[in-house]
Amino acid sequence: MTLTPVWAQLADLFAAVCFVLALKGLSGPKTARNGNMLGAIGALVAVVVVFLANPHMKHLWLILIAIVIGIAIGYPAARQVKMTQMPQLVALFNGVGGGAAALISVIEFLGAGEFESKGVLTATVFTVVVGSVSFTGSILTFLKLQEVITTRPILLPAGRFITMLVALLTLVAAVWLVVAPTTLLLVVLLALSLLFGLLLVMPVGGADVPIVISLLNAFTGLSVAASGYVLGNVLLIVAGTLVGASGTLLTREMAKAMGRPLTNTMFGAFTATAAAVGTGGGEERPIRSSTPQDVAIMLAYASKVIIVPGYGLAVAQAQHTIRELVDLLTDRGVQVDYAIHPVAGRMPGHMNVLLAEANVPYEQLKEMDEINPEFPSTEVVLVVGANDVVNPAAKTEPSAPIYGMPILDVGSAQQVVFLKRSMRPGFAGIENELLFDPKTTLLFGDAKDSLTKVVKDLEAL
Ligand code: NDP
Repeated sequence: MTLTPVWAQLADLFAAVCFVLALKGLSGPKTARNGNMLGAIGALVAVVVVFLANPHMKHLWLILIAIVIGIAIGYPAARQVKMTQMPQLVALFNGVGGGAAALISVIEFLGAGEFESKGVLTATVFTVVVGSVSFTGSILTFLKLQEVITTRPILLPAGRFITMLVALLTLVAAVWLVVAPTTLLLVVLLALSLLFGLLLVMPVGGADVPIVISLLNAFTGLSVAASGYVLGNVLLIVAGTLVGASGTLLTREMAKAMGRPLTNTMFGAFTATAAAVGTGGGEERPIRSSTPQDVAIMLAYASKVIIVPGYGLAVAQAQHTIRELVDLLTDRGVQVDYAIHPVAGRMPGHMNVLLAEANVPYEQLKEMDEINPEFPSTEVVLVVGANDVVNPAAKTEPSAPIYGMPILDVGSAQQVVFLKRSMRPGFAGIENELLFDPKTTLLFGDAKDSLTKVVKDLEAL
């Protein structure tokens, strides 16, 4: 192994400190932008150091061409992606990271001839397994989020048995490979791991996808850390461990917010009877719909209003208009709060980021536990493009994919107004009984258009 020069070690230390400070910055909305920038600087330093510290690097041109191709795809993709498509992009980038770590280990394995220790061989095998699982799992997650395939659980006959069998075979092949390394066994292990990644994500229902993204993110971090050990690169170990640890903590927090253990998220669908869950199709049922003027009047004469933002608010980009509406109501003496569900939207903190963009004061955003006791004393709840996070099926329908997830208790308010475009269900693909409740009224249309009309009518009152 070549010795890393002291200046390069110091530069690596600088990059590692940047990563730690980046994580710290990312933990609050006010410091997140700087945190992101610090992380990017750390990554840039880390990459440049590799080139400067290895002037006689093999395949330099191939590496540079790969970097140019990566930038040509990644940069415009990240610039053009809509805010609502960010989770898909994160899933895709995460998958590519895990896949890269696995590929590096495959190449190390093939080129090693003799491994310097069983420890290095074990780390190599670990990276192949976890990186491959993360790769196929993340690609499938991307397809679900992009709605290229169904967002509902995909259940194979005897799915649980097949998944457990493949998991067991993967483990056996991995141990075997460490004991007696051969190329054929490596190929078998690679195929099993890729298949296991697919099987792991297939049964995960729509509403649990955020937890899976976070789990796969932790997997990628761990595989990168292990590949750092294989390559003797301390910075990869540090960066991978940070991602692995923070991803694990985030997964735990999100599973807690969804009110269920992680095993239930991953394997719960095997026990659910998919047929028992309504899908929004079927017979016509009566609903109440309103005009923007009706809604304006309802809001103007209430003393307490709660806004429940959801994914549709982000799609419609109606954050500025909702703020305008809230300002008008506050000027009239109405008490208004926003109820923020931990998985509203399509990424953790989505609603906070969206509303911060419209300069909504942070004090107006209330977490679920804080706001739930407020609903019974609230005259009007305005549900703007949210659905799953207020769906009572999470409490009443054991076969629903969101069963057990704590919801915003909107049904206990005196009146509920839904702003949405149609009777289509939310991400989890299940019908919402609250839409048919006599206390509910629907204002159909794009949330921004509808809110703009309500604001106009409110001004005219
Ligand atoms: P949902 O996906 O349940 O519902 C969104 C609602 O918005 C739909 O009813 C849709 O109805 C409506 N809508 C869409 N576009 C518009 C528009 N332009 N104007 C008005 N309404 C619109 O969203 P929620 O926020 O309630 O729940 C989030 C879901 O996403 C949960 O199931 C969660 O688990 C999942 N998820 C969350 C992630 C996270 O990290 N936060 C990541 C991945 C998934 P219509 O089409 O009729 O307009």
